[in-house]
Amino acid sequence: MSASQHPTADPEPPRKLRRLTQSAPPNQAVGATAVLNSMRHIQAQAGLARGTKALLRANQKGGFDCPSCAWPDPDDDRSSFEFCENGAKAIATEATRKRATPELFAQHTLADLAAWSDFELNDAGRLTEPMVLDAGATHYRPIAWDDAFALIAEELNATDPNEAIFYTSGRASNEAAFLYQLFVRQYGTNNLPDCSNMCHESSGAALKMTIGIGKGTVTLDDLEHTDCVMVIGQNPGTNHPRMLTSLEKTVKNGGRIVSVNPLLETGVKAFAHPQKLSGLLGVATPLQSLHVPVRLNGDLPFVKGLLKCVLEAEAAQPGTVVDRKFIAEHTEGYEQLIAALAEVSWPDLCQQSGLTVAQIREAAAVFISAPECITCWAMGLTQHHNAVETIQELVNLHLLTGKIGRPRSGLCPVRGHSNVQGDRTMGIWERPPPPFLDQLDAEFGFKSPRAFGYDTVEAITAMHEGKARVFFALGGNFLSASPDTHYTAAALRRCALTVQVSTKLNRSHLITGQRALILPCLGRTETDLRNGQPQFVTVENSMGVVHSSEGKLAPASPHLLSEVAIICCLAAATLGERSTVPWAALAQNYDLIRERIERVVPGFDKFNLRIHQPGGFYLPNGVKERRWDTKTGKARFTVNPLNPLKLEPGQLLLQTFRSHDQFNTTIYGHNDRYRGITNERRVIFLNREDMRERGVEPQQPIDITSHFQGETRTAELFLAIPYDTPKGCAAAYYPEANVLVPIGAKANISQTPTSKSIVITITPSTG
Ligand code: SF4
Repeated sequence: MSASQHPTADPEPPRKLRRLTQSAPPNQAVGATAVLNSMRHIQAQAGLARGTKALLRANQKGGFDCPSCAWPDPDDDRSSFEFCENGAKAIATEATRKRATPELFAQHTLADLAAWSDFELNDAGRLTEPMVLDAGATHYRPIAWDDAFALIAEELNATDPNEAIFYTSGRASNEAAFLYQLFVRQYGTNNLPDCSNMCHESSGAALKMTIGIGKGTVTLDDLEHTDCVMVIGQNPGTNHPRMLTSLEKTVKNGGRIVSVNPLLETGVKAFAHPQKLSGLLGVATPLQSLHVPVRLNGDLPFVKGLLKCVLEAEAAQPGTVVDRKFIAEHTEGYEQLIAALAEVSWPDLCQQSGLTVAQIREAAAVFISAPECITCWAMGLTQHHNAVETIQELVNLHLLTGKIGRPRSGLCPVRGHSNVQGDRTMGIWERPPPPFLDQLDAEFGFKSPRAFGYDTVEAITAMHEGKARVFFALGGNFLSASPDTHYTAAALRRCALTVQVSTKLNRSHLITGQRALILPCLGRTETDLRNGQPQFVTVENSMGVVHSSEGKLAPASPHLLSEVAIICCLAAATLGERSTVPWAALAQNYDLIRERIERVVPGFDKFNLRIHQPGGFYLPNGVKERRWDTKTGKARFTVNPLNPLKLEPGQLLLQTFRSHDQFNTTIYGHNDRYRGITNERRVIFLNREDMRERGVEPQQPIDITSHFQGETRTAELFLAIPYDTPKGCAAAYYPEANVLVPIGAKANISQTPTSKSIVITITPSTG
């Protein structure tokens, strides 16, 4: 099919500039401004009555789980306002009164809608009815649910299962995810890429190989009572804002915060508690006691420097720093690590990390002097070519000192999407472990496929090479979240059918296969009645707590179906007699789904009983009992060679990141108040000296070109913003900058796109 059939639906957001103002980043986060902003969004979208009703149930025991990030809720005392500013924005746009009705699609072609900004697409409101795009059509039209399922079933049954791709975004509930993977495996493939492939896959891979579990090993109580928290490659103020409440408790309990990030982010400077009068009056608790301005992709040499400092401190006072008893009992590979560290030179570590020895020693001193320490991280570590190696070096640090597998010490990859961890636990994985498939087959009496499927990058490549005919997305905004926007757009357009299960309009609805469907589903905030009985779903947060989520708002439209119902109807329509799974019954009573999960997924015994415990339950985590589910039953030290990126003269490294007015690819506004940016997203943050050397003036329009294995990709019209970022390091928002991320630029082992270290050059805009 040629692009001409869907003329000019540009996969990129509109490339036009707005009038920007830049001010100094604030010295404190949250405070009264966050409260006002939250209420402004609630008022503008849902209205005070509906919006406040939703907010008061957010993250409450028996309430619904915030559809945004995966920061855990307190086990015990919860505030009546257990949400943050960005949680409020997410809830506001889900509970919005605005509707994207069939009339909207009748008025606008795909090309018209593609000219809208991502903010305008999201602001169109909640989808209300299933919509279909016929081959060659320029407009979506309404379709009945049964016809939609029949259309998909016909296409799937005319397709080799390994030419169909089933993507999952991290918002899908455990029940929906479990049934989705069951349907897809009964259909005959493991093509189950998910958003985790693009975010914490590097964490899962590194941790699974070294400590035997691909998840964090600590609790919220551990974090709030530890002596040191290292926050590396993470911006909690915007991406996990309630974490600041916990970090304030850490500080008040005597702990120290070390932030390791090219940028000094406002969130870790100081926290004005919005639920305290003092906080509303602007009195803030200083959080970080040390900022380490590591350069982009400088984390591996930095952590190696910490390890060398640990060994030096141990040599100075034997038996006081290195936990030899723990090492002897629980680990392997110690000797190889020590030998390798001896070979590493400080000049190399400093040159590659962009830090001085003194800066590394200062951070090491905080870590070493802290009896207990927890390291938290996010995309700033996971989206680099050597991400897995860097995270394994962090594991080395905690193993060497024994600061793991005991209270108040351990590792904490902080997930960015509310149930991304739960989806993986439910089997959403293109590389499923055989024991899981054996359990699944035994429970449902079929033989699941064993060949590994496509991860996200492989799925895009397969579509681009014409090896995939059907793309189905359970939530998300695949096009905008993926790397290499134009390549991904061309890939999607090669499909015979693309299907999106969504709550709101986004750019992935506009870049389609020959035919396309939009299937509108219920949101987390909404009541899900089956046979007149309210149903609840479950999710798993970053710290391995499984808890219920039940919405109470009236659905945005009477035509919406839950994710569970959509999957059950689709499976029944596609598999027919081939499946013995009672899809219709499971769709009517989610307890029946949980009964099946109990028997297939480890750690979910007595699921239907325990899920009614207020706050839910913790999944087993061997590391907490110092049990290592690795090949050898030991925690493993690893040797990770330095392998820095080589830049040509004039080249810079670019990271893509979020503004404070976005969640993943959902754009709530054009401001980024924690970085002093108002009213524009097409900006690139640059080191002032880098600007001077290139004769670039503040707010000068420039084009950005990425360089990868002789290929170049250009994103036009970004305003140059002078900013405190290490020399040679730049930053721009995604999805705008995803145009620059080469499909082939992936992390070793995890294949995660390297969106945090893209080699670029900048030139004055010609546009
Ligand atoms: S911290 Fe995350 S989960 Fe909690 S309210 Fe904010 S966005 Fe939602």
